[in-house]
Amino acid sequence: MLIDLHCHTRPLSACSALTAAELVSLACERGLDGICLTEHDRAWDAGELAELRESAPIRVFSAVELTTDMGHVLAFGLDPSGFSAIARAVFAAAEASGGVLFLAHPARDGLLRVTHETVQYFASVEAVNGSDTKLQNLAASGLAKGFRLPGIAGSDAHMRDEVGRAATRFAYPVTTDAELLRELLAGRYEAAAVER
Ligand SMILES: [Zn+2]
Ligand SMILES: [Zn+2]
Repeated sequence: MLIDLHCHTRPLSACSALTAAELVSLACERGLDGICLTEHDRAWDAGELAELRESAPIRVFSAVELTTDMGHVLAFGLDPSGFSAIARAVFAAAEASGGVLFLAHPARDGLLRVTHETVQYFASVEAVNGSDTKLQNLAASGLAKGFRLPGIAGSDAHMRDEVGRAATRFAYPVTTDAELLRELLAGRYEAAAVER
């Protein structure tokens, strides 16, 4: 099962040109089984999320991309009360609620933002980011080997062309956020670049 674990839509992510409906329909056209909404520092309203799920031809999951002092963090299973710009606080909140954290695009801007401390805080890194270069993804995939879980992959789509450029392949079907979290924690997935 192929799921794009990193997507932005407007208006919650002001930098995105995509509506959620466009994102979902393009992802479906491009052969994905699901997408995960990871807006910048904002969670979707539960009612709007339920409506989107109802109308979507593929699975829609919900997480967040937090801007922190350790870089951008993809957080799954984290309650919005745990959102913070301080990575240590996010880590504590994720530990308390059973969430899991991945360091997003760890090799972007020529900077490898991985230290001994990061390895303790994050389950892994985003090994393939559809908006990064091949070289950056090669570096990120290498970094993922130092963590306890495999690296994830996502398009980081903000525009139509970017949808589905990378995704995470799950060994078992997942239908809910809780199941997605369970499979992530179990490490039953691999990062995949999607050829189109
Ligand atoms: Zn980011
Ligand atoms: Zn992003």
